[in-house]
Amino acid sequence: MSETYVCSNCQTTVTRPFQIRSIIRTCDECGQNGRFLHRSLVDSLESLPAEELPDGWESMRLDERFEAALKQGLIQLTRS
Ligand SMILES: [Zn+2]
Repeated sequence: MSETYVCSNCQTTVTRPFQIRSIIRTCDECGQNGRFLHRSLVDSLESLPAEELPDGWESMRLDERFEAALKQGLIQLTRS
């Protein structure tokens, strides 16, 4: 089984044989060392209703969106 992770900065994807919330790595595409979010989290962020999104959402990186959505209770984590 392989799981997809998405670069917070440029949205390049990588696959890993394990499922966790996010991984930290240096991106091959954009060269940034940062967080890659699991695809399912990215899908959750993309499915949020537009009227509930915090200010500046469009200009946030994926990991910033994730933190903002968590803080506002827009998404819940169902596993640790
Ligand atoms: Zn990247």
